Amino acid sequence: MGRRKSSRKPPPRRKNIEALDIFFDCPFCNHEKSCEVKMDKGRNAAKISCRICLEDYQASINLLSEPLDVYNDWIDACENAN
Ligand SMILES: [Zn+2]
Repeated sequence: MGRRKSSRKPPPRRKNIEALDIFFDCPFCNHEKSCEVKMDKGRNAAKISCRICLEDYQASINLLSEPLDVYNDWIDACENAN
């Protein structure tokens, strides 16, 4: 009987860097990675602000929230405002 190849490697897992990233493109001035998210989980609040055009937005978060969620909230709020 032939030996089975047992050294099948699983595909390398890509690290989800995007989800951990706290810098996002600005929807106002369109600069890349100019908006920084600051998470304040102790107060269930987060703030995102653009260092180029100084637009900012505050969102309420929970323990599971990620910077990307805050950014998406901001985008939603922008679209609702328009
Ligand atoms: Zn901006």
